[in-house]
Amino acid sequence: RLLTIEGGEGAGKSTVLSALRDALLADGCEVVCTREPGGTPLAERIRGLLLDAGDEPVHPHTELLLMFAARAQHVRQVLLPALARGAWVISDRFTDSSYAYQGAARGMDEAFIAELERRAVGIEPGLTLLLDLGVAHARERTRGRDLLGGASPDRIESERDDFFERVRDGFLARAARHPQRIRVLDASPDAATVAAAALAALADYRKG
Ligand code: C5P
Repeated sequence: RLLTIEGGEGAGKSTVLSALRDALLADGCEVVCTREPGGTPLAERIRGLLLDAGDEPVHPHTELLLMFAARAQHVRQVLLPALARGAWVISDRFTDSSYAYQGAARGMDEAFIAELERRAVGIEPGLTLLLDLGVAHARERTRGRDLLGGASPDRIESERDDFFERVRDGFLARAARHPQRIRVLDASPDAATVAAAALAALADYRKG
């Protein structure tokens, strides 16, 4: 009953999250919506550190370990208790984001990430919706947003695009490795169309 929504910036994760939440609530389910990095007061503070590290460059190892520190806290404080009482949990990002951002895009070793996942996280979503969007299209949608991950204004556009291409490829590689769990949705149509596709994927999953 753990659902996660993944994808790059501008893919429309929050719209999909609301649609899934509303559908489950309408069905009388208890739903806990959360996000990563963050989801608990301590994990939100770690998010704040990551998003605003000041002038000091954040080493990829530091970023990876802080992401997993936040996630370890989030899993124990929020996800496990909610799942244990039978609630649905919908998380905006989860471990797949670390494979895409810290792994594929920042070059951290995948086996190391897998080890952190095994030891510090220990749970996998039942269903992951990957909102896939071309980098140029995503750039159009996120113009003006403040982003972590190679998106600082002093970076030239091609360098940023290169980073986000690696993020996208990293997500698609995860989907190829976990075809049962991860459903890839085309995020390029309007929000209502993407939400409908997400609801159809949830309905499929619930049929089991
Ligand atoms: O999706 P959201 O906007 O909440 O993500 C916050 C920022 O953290 C984004 O810029 C995203 O690129 C970054 N991030 C990351 N590695 C993760 C998760 C998020 O670099 N594992």
